[in-house]
Amino acid sequence: MNYKIDQYFQNVYQEAAENRKPQSVSKADLSSMLGDFQEKKSSRPPEILETKELSAYRRERYVFHYTDDRPGPVYVLTPDNGAKRHPAVLALHGHGYGSREIAGLTESGEEDEEGSGIHRHFAALLASRGFKVFAPEIIGFGDRRLDEDKRRSRPKSCYKMGAQLLSVGKTLAGLRVQEARLLLDDMAAFPDVNENGPGIMGFSGGGLIAAYTAALDERIQAAVLSGFVNTYQESLWPVEHCLDNYVPGLLSGAELPAYIGLTAPRPLFIESGSRDPLFPLEGARKAVEVLGDIYENQRAAGQLEWEPFDGAHEVRAGRCVSWLHEHLSFQ
Ligand SMILES: [Zn+2]
Repeated sequence: MNYKIDQYFQNVYQEAAENRKPQSVSKADLSSMLGDFQEKKSSRPPEILETKELSAYRRERYVFHYTDDRPGPVYVLTPDNGAKRHPAVLALHGHGYGSREIAGLTESGEEDEEGSGIHRHFAALLASRGFKVFAPEIIGFGDRRLDEDKRRSRPKSCYKMGAQLLSVGKTLAGLRVQEARLLLDDMAAFPDVNENGPGIMGFSGGGLIAAYTAALDERIQAAVLSGFVNTYQESLWPVEHCLDNYVPGLLSGAELPAYIGLTAPRPLFIESGSRDPLFPLEGARKAVEVLGDIYENQRAAGQLEWEPFDGAHEVRAGRCVSWLHEHLSFQ
């Protein structure tokens, strides 16, 4: 006997699509669905933990204070190129061992000489190309896992954190977006960061945070989303992703590209690996089509760029680096 369970869940998707209101989504809708995070920003300034001079940039590890009860480490990578001010980029890692994975380090904090893995050390790469890069340890990873997960060497705390936040009407995606936005406040206070606003780059789970942060926060001047842009239909619905991808009610409001499109008309660059099993190329293509219409409607078609590349679920960090140079001020 086939109990048609799969069919039922296909119907759930279809019903959500058919019952949507035709008007487009708003920033207020997205913000509200992510959960109510109104805690006051801590007034404590960042404190430096360690400094190391490398050939192309200086690597510092700070503690930033998001709220008074929520500190977290952040790598700050400053180019050694003689410039007085640098364009800033907020760099958000995906699932893995945390900020060290994009800052050029191994899990235990040694220089990673072996190879850069799927993250391509993209924070270090951007710093070596003239950007002042802020790479926070995203809550749930690395030094910011729950104590139990650290003790048992579990790589992430997403499930428990996500489930607990859902129980009080909040989401882990929302908490991470809140922290990214609070970090923007501290980034702007660095005297060697240029005043024209930062860029943001995120990969995979970090791509989700980058997408919603750019959508909600007009301070972001240019966004690079790697290994994330897709549709529910092709990715988030059929693929078993981490719980932190799911925001109650989101799909009832619109398909995923509509929310990513809230960044328009500001510049948006998308990378998609042709063999990415988690965010399939066909879903990326459909999402980029929808985003193309959104940008066209805002007379900003030239501000959207897509680089599909021969690769799996991994950062490309190719064309997007010079694209960030074009879109962030070096004054
Ligand atoms: Zn996760």
